Amino acid sequence: MNAKDDAVEVQNGKGARQPQILLIHTGGTIGMGATASGLAPVAGLLERAVKDFMPAGMATTVVSFDPLIDSADIRFEDWNRIIDLVEGWRGAGVIVTHGTDTMAFTGAALSQALSGIGIPVVLCGAMQPLGTGGDAEGNLKLAIEAVSRQPPGVWFAFAGRVLPAAGLVKHHTHEADSFRAILPAMPSSLPRLRRFGDVRLAILTIAPGLRAQTLAAMLSTLDGAVLRLFGAGTMPGDPALLAVLQDAMARGCRLRAISQCERGGLSPGAYAAGAGLWQIGVENGGEETAEAALVRLWLDLSKSGGVEPAA
Ligand code: ASP
Repeated sequence: MNAKDDAVEVQNGKGARQPQILLIHTGGTIGMGATASGLAPVAGLLERAVKDFMPAGMATTVVSFDPLIDSADIRFEDWNRIIDLVEGWRGAGVIVTHGTDTMAFTGAALSQALSGIGIPVVLCGAMQPLGTGGDAEGNLKLAIEAVSRQPPGVWFAFAGRVLPAAGLVKHHTHEADSFRAILPAMPSSLPRLRRFGDVRLAILTIAPGLRAQTLAAMLSTLDGAVLRLFGAGTMPGDPALLAVLQDAMARGCRLRAISQCERGGLSPGAYAAGAGLWQIGVENGGEETAEAALVRLWLDLSKSGGVEPAA
């Protein structure tokens, strides 16, 4: 387990009906400081800031990962830990502070796994650490406001906007306003909380020059893959490539296609190049982001327990 079980209570003002907020701090730039090898998480930094920003009448319980992580190290066990904490929370809402590098994965993971959740869950991070005059204080304040006013669901508070977290795209490595949301919020549904299992998945980008042998080697290690196709859903016409995909599917490997274009999704049948994909039954991920498609396969395969490894 990657989070401390001991939670820290932060109380600002005492009222009989204080909104109770859970803040899960995973790490990320928002709570980092300089080290000899670059920015790294600093324990206690975010917890102190929360105390300063919490409005009167709001009671907050902070649970911090131990150790705090750069979001490059996020694992499916961490998503499950967050889901457990959210499921067990009886208060008004949850804030999750997280690094921006894999925010789109965690946004998709929590949006799908917490589908139908009855409270707002607000993700938040920053491009600059707290106390450096950057975006961290503003983003944290926005998340604290958002958790009191957003409808139930999973949201992302960043750069002055509150976006649905299901299909985030990080489009800039430095700017404060570095995200857009290209998928709507998940439709409201009956609560159906799910967990991630230990399945073998990857996002594979089709590119000119890809050899069938290379594709076969990669797929032989996987239970499923997101295939990032060209444009409306095309790939090179080499029949050996299609044969490799068909073999993988024959042994139960799930293949879900999306486009390398950010908007517009796939149009199966629009071009002869790629027609074979739909004939062999590759799944159409439509307008999903790569992260959303990966999470979808992950949850589906977790339910079924994965598939047999390739012989
Ligand atoms: N490397 C950092 C992280 O994802 C970047 C950030 O938080 O902005 O944890």
